[in-house]
Formats: sequence, structure tokens, C-alpha cells
Amino acid sequence: SLSIKDILDHLHINDTNHAFSTGSSQGSTTGALVKNIVSPVDGQKIASVTFATEEEYDAVIDTATNAFKSWRLIPAPKRGEIVRQIGEQLRAHKQQLGTLVSYEMGKSLQEGYGEVQEMIDICDFAVGLSRQLYGLAMHSERPGHRMYEQHHPLGIVGIISAFNFPVAVWSWNAMLAWVCGDVCVWKPSEKTPLTAIACQHIVKQVFEENGVEDGVSCLVIGDRSIGELMSNDTRIPLISATGSTRMGKAVSAAVGARLGKSLLELGGNNAIIITSDADLDMALIGAVFGAVGTAGQRCTTTRRLIIHESVYDDFKQKLVNAYAQIKIGNPLNEQNHMGPLIDHDAVNAYLDSIEKCKAEGGRFIVEGGRLEGDAYASGCYVTPCIAEVENHYKIVQHETFAPILYLMKYADLDDAIALQNGVPQGLSSAIMTTNLREAEKFLSVAGSDCGIANVNIGTSGAEIGGAFGGEKETGGGRESGSDAWKIYMRRQTNTINYSETLPLAQGIKFNL
Ligand code: NAD
Repeated sequence: SLSIKDILDHLHINDTNHAFSTGSSQGSTTGALVKNIVSPVDGQKIASVTFATEEEYDAVIDTATNAFKSWRLIPAPKRGEIVRQIGEQLRAHKQQLGTLVSYEMGKSLQEGYGEVQEMIDICDFAVGLSRQLYGLAMHSERPGHRMYEQHHPLGIVGIISAFNFPVAVWSWNAMLAWVCGDVCVWKPSEKTPLTAIACQHIVKQVFEENGVEDGVSCLVIGDRSIGELMSNDTRIPLISATGSTRMGKAVSAAVGARLGKSLLELGGNNAIIITSDADLDMALIGAVFGAVGTAGQRCTTTRRLIIHESVYDDFKQKLVNAYAQIKIGNPLNEQNHMGPLIDHDAVNAYLDSIEKCKAEGGRFIVEGGRLEGDAYASGCYVTPCIAEVENHYKIVQHETFAPILYLMKYADLDDAIALQNGVPQGLSSAIMTTNLREAEKFLSVAGSDCGIANVNIGTSGAEIGGAFGGEKETGGGRESGSDAWKIYMRRQTNTINYSETLPLAQGIKFNL
């Protein structure tokens, strides 16, 4: 019920927005490239941003470097208290921020709110974590010696994020990094910078109210060239990058060449195995939400269904019926299930993949295509589609970031698991079965090779309590829950001798 103008005012988004922000100070708009941000929902310009220059980027890194010196001295539970206040502010702004996520990115309003809820959840998690950054005590082999390990903050954490979760992924990194004592420099996707600017305004106010030095939270607006500066910058010990596998390979090579640390969250090619013992009604909801939610633009989107031959025809018919019910249109209207793709390039990639799939022999049982008409004037709306394919098709091996669902048939569970694992990516996977043996086999050492493996849940919609990420071309990083915090800290082993002699380890004799 709020107008977009009211929301922009509420979130301090101006007509022209600055290239960078380090808390209390904001960049100038002079001389830098200006980009109009257009909503995929209705094709209207929302606002414009300037891109940071290299000099502006350098100034941000200087401010962040300085801020780290004082931020690291604040006790972790006190840093947690500030993150708690950020969570409170996100609660207060949930409706506005969630709506802007939906309008700028195109996901449904419910998913926009859900994204802000994830940010609130990670704040809560980080507050508890701020009192649980545990080290370990060991037993020394030497008498009168104590040995332990502790974790210290790293310094600057560089966060490069993708358009599809324009704010949640930043918060998974930033909230943990902050309680760990790090400072953050965030380069959001150039496709969705406005929600990032809104978040920076929210956290900036909290940091200021707490008298925290400028630069603990920094935002730099720009495209891949800013990402490249960050990857090559020895002042940034950790780069956390979320996006395509192509981007991840470039970032990993640049960070690796300087022996920095990288945390990579890259593409997925996620499958659900539907066995002869599956509850097909549950499988249907999991599969359809997984395939069309966020218009197929989640890293955990369900891209492949591997279906037992005995239920294949039945399930295929259920899918076709369900797809006929899907309402596509303005995602701010809660009657619609699916909104637009992010931009025209994404639509072209989707159309191109459909052609490639057909050329390789794919048979479409629900046809795709671009939607025309007044309601789809942005040119970004497409129909979710379904094709029967073989796993080895080049296009099936590739992550197309769009609602194209591939079906394949299996007879033996080992073959189904081999198909599920038989792609370059390794993010999320699921099995739908009521058979204990099948479920346990899928989770066993000989089962799914993904970072996420679910039973009777689809591939998308992870909770923040677990470690999130995947293997192979997904990049190997883990974020958010469990012990994912450890990558934001450096580990130090300490041995203290409180005896009156100096025995050497391994019993080595060295007499003077
Ligand atoms: P993208 O790779 O085009 O861009 C992601 C970010 O990387 C942007 O901020 C971009 O400016 C930056 N970038 C691009 N090239 C770079 C380079 N060479 N060096 C440094 N930075 C560079 O991805 P996108 O289209 O925004 O997002 C979609 C992709 O993200 C999909 O592949 C999706 O699976 C993946 N993704 C993965 C996860 C995960 O947690 N595994 C989560 C969300 C999205």
C-alpha cells in the first residue's frame, strides 16, 4: 500500500546517489559514470547512481584500514550489541526495504520480505555468536606449559555480491565479520545498488549513534572493475564473492596470486530425485516452488528433476497442470507467483538456452517465451518452461539463470545419484522419498556430492543456522551458520611456559 516514492524517501534514496559511503562521509558525484537503475517490474527509472572512481575506492580502503584499528579493540559482545541494534532497525524498516528489494530486483513481495527476514535472522545469530567465538585448549607435551588457540580478526573483508539476493548475502557476511572484529567494504551488484544504499543508510545511523569510528561499514558502487580492484588489493585479506562461476574463477585467480583468502559462493545446477516411494504432492510443491520461485534466479533454484520411471508420467502430468496455474506479473501484486527476470540480457540468455536445448534434442512439454502486452511492458517477463532432456546435453550442464526445468527418467537409485552428481556444480540437492534406505543412501558417502543435501524438502530456501555453500564449481565457500565464522578470523596457536626451565619440543637436547 506504500508508494514507491514514499519508500525511496523513507530509505533516503535520492534521485542521484553517491558512489561510496563510509559511514558518516559520503562520496561526491563529480566526474564518475552515472547509471540509471531501471526496475524490471515496470521498466521505470527508480533513481541513478554514480560509479566510484579508483581514487574514491582508495579513499574508502584508507578509511576502512583506519577504522579497523579501533573496531578490533571493542569487545566482541559489545560489537554484538551494535549488531543487535542493526537487527532492530531492519525489523523497523522491513516493509519498506522488502518492497524495494522486490521492485529493484523483481522477486515477489513475499520473497522480498523473506530476504529482509533473513537479514534479521543473521543479526540474531551474530549477536549470540559474539559471545561464542571459541578457541581451544590443548595439552602440552612439556611440563609447566599451557597451549591454546585463539581467533583474532582479519582486517578488511571485501564483499562482492550478486543481483539475485541483493542484500541478504551481504548481511550474512557483514554481521558475522563485524562481531568477529573485521570491517567491511561492500561492492553490491551494479544491477541492484539502491537496496545496498538503503542498507548502508540504516547501518550508518546505528554506528553513528554508538559513536563508532567512520569506516566499519563501507559501500562502493561500481561494476566488475571495482571487484577487480578489490580482488587484487593486498590491503583486503579476505574477499567473499557471490556470483557466477566465471566471476569466481577470476576472483579466485587474482586473490590466489597474492595468497589472500577467498570465500566463493557461485553457481548451482540443483536437482531433486523423485523416487517411486515419494509423496508426490509434497514433491510437486517442492519442485514447482524450487523451479519458478524468484523466476528461477536463485543459486539454489531447482533446475533438474530426476524421476523414477514408475511415477514419471504421473508426475509429469501433475507438473504440467501446476504450471498452468502459475500467475506471472507484477511481483508487488501478491496474487502473482512469479515476477520478471532482472533485465533484457537475462531474457535473451533464457531464449537462447531454449533454442540450444531444442537443438540438442530437448522436447518442451511446457513451452517458454517472452510475454508481451501492457502488463509486461518492461520486456523482462517470461513463461516458466519444462523440457525432457538428457543430462549430458551441454545446456543441461550449464546454469541458465531463468525458469527452465529439465526432466529426466531413471530406473536405479545409483544411476539417479550419478545423474544428480554428474554436473560441474555442487550446491544444493534433494531426494523426495518415504523410504529410509533411499534417503540414507542419498545422504551417505556414496550419495549427493553437494554442499546441501535435503530429504523431503526442495533445493531452495536454506535457513541461516546451517553453513551455506557448495562444492566443485560452486566454489567451496561456506557462509552464515555453523562454524562459518572461522573464515573471518585468523587463528593463532599460543604456548606459554610457566616453568623455570626451557624444555624443547620433541625432547630435543640443546645445551649451552
Ligand atoms: P555475476 O557474476 O555477473 O556478478 C556478481 C558480482 O561480481 C557483481 O557484483 C559483479 O560486478 C562482480 N564481478 C563480475 N565479474 C567480476 C570480476 N571479474 N572480478 C570481480 N568482480 C566481478 O553474477 P550475477 O548475475 O549478479 O548473479 C547470478 C549468479 O550468482 C548465479 O550464477 C548464481 O548461482 C550466483 N549466486 C550464488 C550464490 C551462492 O551462494 N552460491 C548466491 C547468489 C547467487
